[in-house]
Amino acid sequence: MLLQGRQGLVLGVANRRSIAWAIAQAAAREGARLAFTFQGEAVEKKVRELAGTLRRSVVLPCDVTDDGQVALLFEKLGREFGRLDFLVHCIAFANRRDLENDFVLTSREGFRLAQDISAYSLVGLVRAALPLFPESGASVLTLTYIGSQRAIPRYNIMGVAKASLEAVIRYLANDLGSRNIRVNGISAGPVNTLAARGIPGFTDILHHYRQKSPLRRNIEAAEVGDAGVFLLSTYSRGITGEILYVDAGYHIAGPGPPQNQRRRPVPTVLPRKARPRALSSRHLITG
Ligand code: NAD
Repeated sequence: MLLQGRQGLVLGVANRRSIAWAIAQAAAREGARLAFTFQGEAVEKKVRELAGTLRRSVVLPCDVTDDGQVALLFEKLGREFGRLDFLVHCIAFANRRDLENDFVLTSREGFRLAQDISAYSLVGLVRAALPLFPESGASVLTLTYIGSQRAIPRYNIMGVAKASLEAVIRYLANDLGSRNIRVNGISAGPVNTLAARGIPGFTDILHHYRQKSPLRRNIEAAEVGDAGVFLLSTYSRGITGEILYVDAGYHIAGPGPPQNQRRRPVPTVLPRKARPRALSSRHLITG
């Protein structure tokens, strides 16, 4: 098991569809003991219910906009766990009107709020977690989206916040690398979660990915979970400051007709004329 004996904190479970929950399930399967946070009473019951299905889990409150709650979280975690081997940050928020309106109409307050919750929170959380990270090192993982790199209609201020989050990943990775604290992100393709449903036209985005992705499908949250385990485990010990795309390959696809409108299927057997001649000693490459 890849995370046997490790202890981790997972922030951002809202319900069973949450990407944070998919990562938590994969980490627990690999032997990790987990602590979870919830923001507000509305999600507390759900988080407690889900966490209750995992052995020796801990549930604590934390609104990341409140420094006092962040400090208290790590104080309590110190008493419960003593040591933290990894931290998973799956938190983002923007006002709905800032996603519905044209980007140019983004308000100062909406901009500040999205940056605070979706990007700054990673800085504040990692700083507060430092005393709990062991000398041997730790792994930090966050979730981003390709809207940080491209102007995706209606992703708006979240795209700017994700660009900021990706820069935060690089700066934290550089700051903390000498302590063997690695910081990485997963850029996930669209997954039908509570947060995603707040993005206008989300169903169209799912459809677009099915057509354009090299794998010709959408991803599942469990695939982010498995990739997350890799980044949290020693298998990725040489990787930091990295963004790993788990998006069915969407980010490498170029323009062109939708995949399912291609006129001819890719042949599985080469036509006779195109078959290479048998290799002779003249073809051998040595040295
Ligand atoms: P989700 O709604 O399940 O999770 C978002 C979480 O953020 C919730 O648990 C919510 O309680 C938490 N949150 C919001 N404001 C908070 C605050 N002030 N304090 C503490 N927690 C707060 O949705 P999700 O899609 O699983 O989102 C997880 C992460 O994945 C986000 O960073 C999101 O941007 C990212 N992501 C999602 C997708 C997607 O298509 N779903 C794609 C790429 C990246």
